Amino acid sequence: MAEPRVPGSEGADIELPCGETVAVHDLDMGLREYDCSCGDAHAVVMDVHPLGRFVPEFLGDVLRETIETADEFPEFTTAHVMGIVMEEFPEAVVSEDLSEEGSVGYSMLWLADFDARRLHEVVVELLVELMDHAVSHADDDEATDQFEQWLHEFDVAAFVEQYREEREFETEHDSAV
Ligand SMILES: [Zn+2]
Repeated sequence: MAEPRVPGSEGADIELPCGETVAVHDLDMGLREYDCSCGDAHAVVMDVHPLGRFVPEFLGDVLRETIETADEFPEFTTAHVMGIVMEEFPEAVVSEDLSEEGSVGYSMLWLADFDARRLHEVVVELLVELMDHAVSHADDDEATDQFEQWLHEFDVAAFVEQYREEREFETEHDSAV
């Protein structure tokens, strides 16, 4: 899977997890999903996408407050989310650092084997796990109990379904189907 990067290849084609390639300039900032010639749709994520793409603002706040980041970014961002997804599914996601490409408007790009909806579910599942872990270490039994109870009733697929429906009106690119 770990193909060697060709130096100076920015702006050229990126190899997708399915083996097809896509040109960077075909991926504009509003794009959430790429209709690939392999017949599948692949989720497209950029570092400029807010956490709100996946979770409501209040959960974004919880994540920013509770998750300590171990790198140069001061707070939890979409880049951290995609780092976690890649750790969990190394074969299913490719990333590309485009920070040298001034014209594209974003620095990091991730392309997934999953479509945007499946990626959304994966992200929510992983974030819930992360919060569960953080809360269980928080030394606050009441908060832990409350969270465990919330988690017990939480349905990832239903949440994603509803969230995507609500957000569908915000941008023409974010189609739920
Ligand atoms: Zn493909």
